[in-house]
Amino acid sequence: MYLRRNPPRETSLGRWSFLGSKQIWLFASSKSARYEAMAECRRRIAGVAEKVEVVTLSHYHFDHHTPSYEDWCYNWSSAEVAKQIYEEKLVLVKSYKGMINFSQRRRGWMFKKTGGKYAKRLEIADGKEFEFDDTTLKFSSPVFHGPQNSELGWIVMTTIKYEDEKVLFASDVQGPMCDSTLEMIIAEAPDLIIIGGPPAYLAGFTVGEEYVQRGLWNLKAIVEKVPLTVLEHHILRGENWRDFSQPIFEAAAATEHVVVTAAEFVGKENNLLESGRKHLFEAYPPTLEFEKWTKLPQPKRKLVKPPI
Ligand SMILES: [Zn+2]
Repeated sequence: MYLRRNPPRETSLGRWSFLGSKQIWLFASSKSARYEAMAECRRRIAGVAEKVEVVTLSHYHFDHHTPSYEDWCYNWSSAEVAKQIYEEKLVLVKSYKGMINFSQRRRGWMFKKTGGKYAKRLEIADGKEFEFDDTTLKFSSPVFHGPQNSELGWIVMTTIKYEDEKVLFASDVQGPMCDSTLEMIIAEAPDLIIIGGPPAYLAGFTVGEEYVQRGLWNLKAIVEKVPLTVLEHHILRGENWRDFSQPIFEAAAATEHVVVTAAEFVGKENNLLESGRKHLFEAYPPTLEFEKWTKLPQPKRKLVKPPI
């Protein structure tokens, strides 16, 4: 995550600009618009990284950090891109030793030996606080990546405190689906929360309907308490995400709180490539050249950039 503090009163929504966490998800049938977006996001992340001193890493899924291996097919990553982001930074990371599942433990160790080796300092952040002049970064103890005992493991949430303002970043808590995570968030009492909602588009497939409903219910409890909620990630992927999220918007309206997407927060239009994929495919069919690239064998596709 990368956050930049605005000069006071620059925005009516607070002193913080959301500069973007890596929220990139590609299905096998991805089309060129998605690759353009992915390349642009990595460029922006590298650009922001040039201006910051601290980079945080909530967990080791590839849409939440930049791996060092070359892959232009799923992650738009390379050793060079990772170096740009982590070199000479204080990198505060989720532990790769404790409260971590097998796959993330492996990715965490890989990160330490690759992108992480460029850091000025790499430090495990679980449950710790770090002070930088008038700003404090506080990391939660690990919370579940979704429901209790999720096979996907754990993440850490980050609270940024500056004077009397608090921003909480809770990626991939998926609502949160877990009630104890909800309690931690409410106890933290942030002014602004950036939170990954439940994956409604997976309900009844890979995620139980009851978990998705629990995530929605808990998210409703959050918007009733927190003045400003920025919704991101899974909740925005479904075609009918706005209908699904209606209880959230109603709860916010009843308490005069605000719920927005990250794009809306910075005054831009939503560009939801995943929820609009059917429409986009019809409106912007891929070129022949791009189709040809999608037919390359997978190992080769990773090493050859798509023609975008
Ligand atoms: Zn994740």
